[in-house]
Amino acid sequence: MRVTERGEGVSQDHYEVLGVERGASADEVKKAYRKLALKYHPDRSQEPDAEARFKLINEAYAVLSDPEKRQRYDRYGHSEAVTNPFQGGVNAADLKDIFGQDLFNELFASLFGGAGRARGRVKRDIEASLSVPLSLVQTGGEATALVHRSASCERCHGHGTKSGRPPKACASCRGTGQARVQRGFIVMAQPCPACQGRGADLSQACLDCRGAGQSQREVEVKVEVPAGVESGQTLRLAGEGELARGQRGDLYLHVQVEPHERFEREGADLHLELTLDFHELALGASVDVSLLSGRSVKLKIPEGTQPGQVLRLRGKGLPSLEARGPGDLLVTVETRVPKALTAAERELIVALKSLSEERAADSAEDAPAPGPLERLRLWAIEALGGSP
Ligand SMILES: [Zn+2]
Ligand SMILES: [Zn+2]
Repeated sequence: MRVTERGEGVSQDHYEVLGVERGASADEVKKAYRKLALKYHPDRSQEPDAEARFKLINEAYAVLSDPEKRQRYDRYGHSEAVTNPFQGGVNAADLKDIFGQDLFNELFASLFGGAGRARGRVKRDIEASLSVPLSLVQTGGEATALVHRSASCERCHGHGTKSGRPPKACASCRGTGQARVQRGFIVMAQPCPACQGRGADLSQACLDCRGAGQSQREVEVKVEVPAGVESGQTLRLAGEGELARGQRGDLYLHVQVEPHERFEREGADLHLELTLDFHELALGASVDVSLLSGRSVKLKIPEGTQPGQVLRLRGKGLPSLEARGPGDLLVTVETRVPKALTAAERELIVALKSLSEERAADSAEDAPAPGPLERLRLWAIEALGGSP
């Protein structure tokens, strides 16, 4: 009985290894095995002893899944040493049944057949950029990313056949995808060489994907964008990456917020330039400001507002990703000068001009006599032909 050879601190008892009762049904054994094999598969697990644990799990399953071996084990408390549970004990058909074709391909296919396990991880995670309009930053919601990756072949609808219809079963393996190979007195299951383990007759393969059922192309991927997202942030979409060994990796989308023609963003604050008439600044006014959402809000222009002055609309900016409240909308007020005046307007502006000249003269009279520096300035302006 192998008790202390290896796996320190880990029970060698097959039932304990799988964590099932001694009276566990075949189904319970299967379920426990599936869970543990996924947890400790050396390609997936980060545990330092994953490989040793994985081996024990498979040995335990090889014995407990076989009624005859299990009975012997129950009676004598041990079984013959299992040197390789994938020879004779655990077989491919059983594993496909337990894990499904895709997971089987990823985790176990390479354990069968003499070629040995393909080393090295397959790169499945991919990156792409996502352009987000500013209005979506405010509301959050669905956006579409264009991603170059494999997708179900359009020509054959993913079947891989020239006809575009589901393929017939492989004649060589009758659709099981397996070939049984006799090695000495051990029968091993290997991927069927005629169909590369797919179980399908692909002798008349699709010309676009050569039978793979997948082709590289531009696909649209829908993504939920959180409100307040910023350029340079990355959104991760699990299971939207590249397909390899039956499993899709993750897609990483790098966000780029599109510039807006009216609003400029600064963190959660928005900046807007608003051009008003001279009289609105001089007399004060209440004006409508249309927001990013399309709704509009009243902005009070105080009397005597200067061009370039910034007025703040609290909470009318963008939501922030952090828990704090929304940013502000900062409105820079500018004024416009009419290009063509009506006769009446001209008359009024001329009147305004003489009024302000009078006012300037009044304040000049009130002012104390210019000091030496001021006299110098006035002389310089006169000498240069300007007016003060
Ligand atoms: Zn076949
Ligand atoms: Zn195709």
